[in-house]
Amino acid sequence: MVNEVNIDPKSRADMPTTSYSKPVIGATGKTGSWRTFTPQIDYDECSRCRTCWLHCPEAVISLDEDGTPHIDLDYCKGCACCAEVCPKKCIAMIREGFDEEESV
Ligand code: SF4
Ligand code: SF4
Repeated sequence: MVNEVNIDPKSRADMPTTSYSKPVIGATGKTGSWRTFTPQIDYDECSRCRTCWLHCPEAVISLDEDGTPHIDLDYCKGCACCAEVCPKKCIAMIREGFDEEESV
């Protein structure tokens, strides 16, 4: 997974282009239980551009070796930022407990 970052930057130019935070179990447990909409990536359409990974405010999207994004649903809060920024519009937000016809 490509989630490791350099935590000793020498200048702003050395700063990583992603969040320092990592999803961990906190005082409120696995915060994915707050979610009412779940992001679902259409991997046939995904171009592996990493835009969703860069913008997820919860840092719950990780990349595998070929840049394929994977969402940790234990911590994803369903904010839809990833779906908004995806240039391929291949992330659907599926309402929990409903089928894809109910997605936004
Ligand atoms: S819905 Fe929000 S929290 Fe979940 S993966 Fe997308 S940007 Fe991250
Ligand atoms: S932003 Fe969209 S196209 Fe880019 S990696 Fe994420 S899901 Fe794939």
